Amino acid sequence: MNAPVTRSRVLHRSSRTAPPLAVGGHGVWLVEQGGREVLDASGGAAVSCLGHQHPRIVEAIKRQADRLCYAHTGFFSNEPAEALAEELVGHEPGGLAQAYFVSGGSEAVEAALKLARQYFLELGQPRRSRYIARRQSYHGNTLGALAAGGNAGRRAPYAPLLTDAFSHVSPAFAYREQQQGEDEAAFTARLAAELEAEFQRLGPDTVAAFVAETVVGATAGCVPAPAGYFQAVREICDRHGALLILDEVMSGMGRTGTRHAWEQEGIAPDLQAIAKGLGGGYQAIGAVLVSARIADAVERGSGAFQHGHTYLAHPIACAAALEVQRVIREDGLLAQVRSMGARLEERLTERFGNHAHIGDIRGRGLFQAIELVADRSSRAPFDPALKVHQRIKDAAFARGLGCYPGGGTLDGQRGDHVLLAPPYIVSAAEIDLIVERLGEAVDTAI
Ligand code: PLP
Repeated sequence: MNAPVTRSRVLHRSSRTAPPLAVGGHGVWLVEQGGREVLDASGGAAVSCLGHQHPRIVEAIKRQADRLCYAHTGFFSNEPAEALAEELVGHEPGGLAQAYFVSGGSEAVEAALKLARQYFLELGQPRRSRYIARRQSYHGNTLGALAAGGNAGRRAPYAPLLTDAFSHVSPAFAYREQQQGEDEAAFTARLAAELEAEFQRLGPDTVAAFVAETVVGATAGCVPAPAGYFQAVREICDRHGALLILDEVMSGMGRTGTRHAWEQEGIAPDLQAIAKGLGGGYQAIGAVLVSARIADAVERGSGAFQHGHTYLAHPIACAAALEVQRVIREDGLLAQVRSMGARLEERLTERFGNHAHIGDIRGRGLFQAIELVADRSSRAPFDPALKVHQRIKDAAFARGLGCYPGGGTLDGQRGDHVLLAPPYIVSAAEIDLIVERLGEAVDTAI
């Protein structure tokens, strides 16, 4: 049978419904064909940190396109890549000394996983081939990153393709995992003991790295770890000679109010994946930030990272990301993230603090989520078949609000949530409008 003539030639995320065409944007607003404006309250998926059509970024892209569009990294470096690396790791934050530029978050995670493996090969420790990650995490959709992730729903269809090099421990998710009568310190100690037990089960000298999102994003909705958790993790990794890989693809580059979310944890990673807010959506770019000891081991050892992509360190992508980072710094936008983040949290608490179906409001900076529950006192999630998060997304979109939904799980380990991650340039009035429209959407959808 012939396909319906109206079917788009683009294979969209949903093959049953065609999304509207976005034809323009300005500030926190996206413009649809026909002129309707949608407030981009989640920056897509925590991507558009400077909003849309920022003149400085558009100009930087044009300037670079006029000068040099592409030069293969097998032959050349390029000016924007060198300058961007200097901007990111020139002062060696937390011991991170080099940057490896790829095209997005999944690629960054894959490269970090492989660099960890290569590090131990350089050191003559080939037994280190196991990775420990966490349930309810998301590290990307390519096969290595998907295997690292602990999002059961996303993994299930591809399970036969996923390596078993990863095992998963409990997420540091207080609302769902902290037990009654257990204080924060005891919760943290329990999680640390579980991680230690997993090292022992695998054999500590077989573990290459522990992988975690510093603040969990898409899978559970803006979940920061309890106090002391990452310090305990760092100590365990160090004691066993394993690396710590932090995935800040979503939570990094200013989203939580500091350039790196780990700055608020009192530790630093050995390898860090970044993307989204690095280029702010102006170009497809991600990176792995590499600590000096790993860079040194590669330099002293084989001398080459055995991993390459055609579009590594793409000049236009690097030029765009460099300008994004300069704007964030020069316009003092981290302070804006902290103050607007506090306002967002306050407004969400006013609007939903006593709402019968909002169990939790959480996050850091301009990275905030609400968790929806069928019953507040038992924290019972809605039946996932109801797709409450999707209904809220649709109701919000109908009101001109774009927000990022996440679904619940059948095992009740988490509920539906809605994630908000507006651009760092968001105004106080726009924050208020986000919460007003979201409130209406929640009330109509449930
Ligand atoms: N890691 C985290 C924490 C993410 O949130 C994402 C994307 O949402 C990824 C990795 C994958 O990034 P990308 O979609 O750019 O491949």
